[in-house]
Amino acid sequence: MDVQIENVMPDGFRLERQLNVMHGMYNGIVVLVIPERERNQYQVQLHVKVENSLAKQQFLDYLGALRQIYSCVVYAGYNGMDTVSLSIQSEEQKDKDNLDEVISSVTAKCTQYGLHSCCTYCKSVETLNTASVDGVPVLLCQNCLTRTMSEANEQAHKKENIPLGILGAAIGVLLGAVLWVIIGQVGFIAGIAGYVIVLCGMKGYQMLGKGMSKAGVVICVFLSALVIIGAEYVSLGLIVYKELKDVSLYSVSMGDAFGMVPMLLEEPEVIGGVVKDLAVGYILAVWASFSLVRSQWKLAGQEAKTKTVVRF
Ligand SMILES: [Zn+2]
Repeated sequence: MDVQIENVMPDGFRLERQLNVMHGMYNGIVVLVIPERERNQYQVQLHVKVENSLAKQQFLDYLGALRQIYSCVVYAGYNGMDTVSLSIQSEEQKDKDNLDEVISSVTAKCTQYGLHSCCTYCKSVETLNTASVDGVPVLLCQNCLTRTMSEANEQAHKKENIPLGILGAAIGVLLGAVLWVIIGQVGFIAGIAGYVIVLCGMKGYQMLGKGMSKAGVVICVFLSALVIIGAEYVSLGLIVYKELKDVSLYSVSMGDAFGMVPMLLEEPEVIGGVVKDLAVGYILAVWASFSLVRSQWKLAGQEAKTKTVVRF
């Protein structure tokens, strides 16, 4: 496309150079034109309320026939919601006339069939604004524009608070650890509790940290792995306490029992059993929480891309 975009602009249109879009109004219909240099084409976009119109089929038939009427039109279609798209092949010096002709014909048809410009999001026809959302030109009513802008604003200001997130995760994993200890007392290997630990950790992180980045996911997994060791230690201490209480003539405190755990762990039999329990527990925990961690990881990647809204 060698021609200057300014020279092909239909009369009364404005060019938003930064956003690479021309916009204006023909026959009361808002028209967006996006030059596509690589394909040597212009994308013409109309957001019109076609659904529920009695003339819908006639209008679609007209669109279907456009390519036969104008040789420069290489595509004319409707997305089934509100968007009419035309691709117009650049013919250099003839572009301005071609655009003028096609746009006035299509918009005249819209007027003839009583189709009005409408909001891309909610199809309202009241007070429409042109805007670019994440680089895509759209037509938005006042409500949708305000909402989209405040969403983008919120997202930009919503920064996760990592220290609070860590605090939340710590509380979460400790709650989960209680379940690990309880299941351990019943004599099961508490692998499924590993899942609960990871889940509670992540929920805690999100609640207090107000977000979840990839760093947050790593922190939660790390804290979960750590607290599982702690939970196993507590499990062992409780078992020792119960055993001693049954056989001992003296009163044994909980503290005494926990104090004996390191000594016990020096016994090859005990440490072997604990390592085996932990290994199986970890494998089960990883197996149970794998898809949870993976989905959080993916989500964290998406949230990093913040929405941009530019009104033009
Ligand atoms: Zn709207």
